[in-house]
Amino acid sequence: MRFAAPLTELALTNLIHAIDAVLPQTQCTRCEYPACHPYAEAVAKQAIPLNRCEPGGEEVITKIAHLLDQAPLPLFHPPRPTQVAFIREEDCIGCARCLPACPVDAILGARRWMHTVITEDCTGCDLCLKSCPVDCIEMVSPPGHWALPDPSLSRQRYHAHLSRQEHRRAKRDHDQDRAQRRAAMIENARAAMQARRNKTQ
Ligand code: SF4
Ligand code: SF4
Ligand code: SF4
Repeated sequence: MRFAAPLTELALTNLIHAIDAVLPQTQCTRCEYPACHPYAEAVAKQAIPLNRCEPGGEEVITKIAHLLDQAPLPLFHPPRPTQVAFIREEDCIGCARCLPACPVDAILGARRWMHTVITEDCTGCDLCLKSCPVDCIEMVSPPGHWALPDPSLSRQRYHAHLSRQEHRRAKRDHDQDRAQRRAAMIENARAAMQARRNKTQ
């Protein structure tokens, strides 16, 4: 049974927080939302059923159902095998395109250097695959000791990833703005010099 009366803003915020807290924080987008928190928000606002988190499986569905006082539903997407990303280092060209693609910063590397996956931090979301221009990232069975990273650590890494991207975006905008202003100043100076030359001729 869904909530009979609309929730207050505070109750809704608490519910979103509680749902987000039980999600695995892979940020994989398989629920068709851009990350776990927006999915939690959509579920709390009743915009989407509670069974769309494939990595969370039945365990997460049961927890969300409990929070919503609702009956659980069968998993919407068929479960995928547990895998982690692996970079064939001998084929890596060091383009660094996979770094921004990984929502939890589980790839180590720098431009023009070989990259590698930190298996313990990898959630198996596979979002890095498409970013690689030479297809040297593949999904493989995790090593025996591997377990899905602690969701609270994945959430922290995701937020750190977002804030670094935001910082880079702001710096790029700032640099572009400065370059445009500089170009405009040079253009104005040229125009002023030309006007002065025209006067003296
Ligand atoms: S872990 Fe679940 S809720 Fe989070 S993005 Fe993936 S499918 Fe969506
Ligand atoms: S390395 Fe790839 S599969 Fe692993 S968490 Fe990052 S994007 Fe996802
Ligand atoms: S995208 Fe592929 S080639 Fe580029 S750094 Fe990452 S793994 Fe290497």
